[in-house]
Amino acid sequence: MESSKLNRRKFIKRASISAMGAGMVSPGAFAAGNSMTEQESTIIKEYRKFGRTGFQVSDFGSGNPSNEAVLRALLKSGVNLIDTGEAYMNGNSERLIGNVIQDFDRSKLFINTKLYTETKFSSKEEVIKRTNECLERLKTDYVDCMQIHSAENSAILKDEAFHSGMEQLKKEGKVRYVGVSCHGNNWAFNTDENLETILMAAVEDGRFDVILLAYNFVNADIAEKILDACEKKNIATIIMKSNPVHLYGLFESKLEKIAEEGKEVDKYTRAFYDKYQVMNNEAQNFFAEYGITSEKELKNAASRYVLSNPKAHTTIWDFQNFDDVENILQLSGQKLSNKDELVLNGYHKHLGHTACRLGCNDCEAVCPHHLPINKILRYNYYFSVKKQEKRAMTKFAQLNLQKPSDLCIDCEGYCEEVCKYGVWTRQLLAAAQHNLELIV
Ligand code: SF4
Ligand code: SF4
Repeated sequence: MESSKLNRRKFIKRASISAMGAGMVSPGAFAAGNSMTEQESTIIKEYRKFGRTGFQVSDFGSGNPSNEAVLRALLKSGVNLIDTGEAYMNGNSERLIGNVIQDFDRSKLFINTKLYTETKFSSKEEVIKRTNECLERLKTDYVDCMQIHSAENSAILKDEAFHSGMEQLKKEGKVRYVGVSCHGNNWAFNTDENLETILMAAVEDGRFDVILLAYNFVNADIAEKILDACEKKNIATIIMKSNPVHLYGLFESKLEKIAEEGKEVDKYTRAFYDKYQVMNNEAQNFFAEYGITSEKELKNAASRYVLSNPKAHTTIWDFQNFDDVENILQLSGQKLSNKDELVLNGYHKHLGHTACRLGCNDCEAVCPHHLPINKILRYNYYFSVKKQEKRAMTKFAQLNLQKPSDLCIDCEGYCEEVCKYGVWTRQLLAAAQHNLELIV
């Protein structure tokens, strides 16, 4: 607790109002007595044209901040895009934002929120009602963009209730632009769609001004096609999940823990034991070969990869604390270095098999049990990279699946046979179950 206070003080001392960022109205946003005159070292360095909206957007945006103080710090540092959704924290994310933006110049902020539906919106009236509720929670007269949240297939992009609702809300000045977010195909039974097909259909549709997608150095071959298409149609882009670096070391710690506790290694763990060791050896070789001493170096290189693509207009993060604010925003304006490029190529070579590509659903078609593989591994990403353990476990439980441990243990591993990236899917599913169910 004391450490977080110190970090907050340290950060506040460095922050000041960015000339191009969000103008602060009330000087009381931070606790009284903190100097706001010292030259900042952690602020946004780059703004980019945000597609056809014409807005000048900060290269980092706010995803789901943990509290109001963190969001205030971001806005004071020049972050001017806030991403949220009605479903985030049961509406409390929008409420948190609504409280904070009262102290800032609303006209200098771009607020992106979302409405979720599993299949279709029931009516235009429902869409309008839910949008008005978003506005109430956000304590604002308008949102800059309203998106369809996590489009699961291309059919939802044509939802007439959504579009007719948006038409009316635009006329009333309550919504300025319309967009869509996507993680790929959410349903294992609909295996002919993925991130690329869904978002290419959104680009073609012509009604979406802002697209939010998963993009990082390991799924670049999928996401960069979409970014190219967006650029041609002058569509604004928001990037999520820019850091795919995780997982190595997980198995080592797991095996160490088992050894310490003197437990028998269960059948599921035993089935992949040798590969766990190989993965750990590969990770160690990789760190030694490239002189990497911390995961932070890898994460920063991953961030610079995305920042270097001018078609990726802003990258959102779920900033959890002041350390996140400081560590991530100091990357603003940076570009990929030669060393970064070498390191990321090395990551592909040594650890590419540990990263399921977000938005790819190729292997789900061959799984005899129709496991939503990409989705399970995305939830594990929430758990292990975003540190959103409770959210990840809840989402996994809601899938109401038979356990991968029961299904994969005797399977030939068809998913691995078809994965063109060589991902060790079964091992990753084992790790995911270990994290998300805590039973292995
Ligand atoms: S394991 Fe491979 S084929 Fe399956 S979803 Fe991930 S990247 Fe695609
Ligand atoms: S190993 Fe598991 S996920 Fe892969 S095809 Fe077999 S049952 Fe499906």
